Amino acid sequence: MKLTNKRKKALEEYIAKKRLKSTRQRNIIFSEFFSYPGHHVTVEELYERVKKLSPKIGYATIYRTLKLFKECDLAFERNFGDGRTRFEPVKFEGEHHDHLICIACGKITEFENQRIEHYSREVASKNNFEVINHKVELYGYCSSCRRNK
Ligand SMILES: [Zn+2]
Ligand SMILES: [Zn+2]
Repeated sequence: MKLTNKRKKALEEYIAKKRLKSTRQRNIIFSEFFSYPGHHVTVEELYERVKKLSPKIGYATIYRTLKLFKECDLAFERNFGDGRTRFEPVKFEGEHHDHLICIACGKITEFENQRIEHYSREVASKNNFEVINHKVELYGYCSSCRRNK
């Protein structure tokens, strides 16, 4: 099944389970969010984009819908310390990645490191702790900002 169809199906099942109404507005937000160029979109950015297509959609609706995508495991919610909530699509089931955040230009780089994954499991098991999620965020200066410092 194509990724978009998979996502739609997951969303529809969740909506049916929760007895939510399916709405045209949600469909618009769905296609804009999952086709947004570049990852880690803020609610404001998505709002600006959606507003052009459908001026009646309010900020709160966008936020609620993104939260809904998150509940369906279709999106991650991120907060990188600048006071803006960001969302990004989950690329496939069980996907996980971490981030490098440049505090000068705001560039966000994704990475995956098996050793970090391994050590977090090790730390958890030593503490008899059941991990359900983790995030690693490294803050600093990206290569171009370092050159210009
Ligand atoms: Zn930078
Ligand atoms: Zn990311």
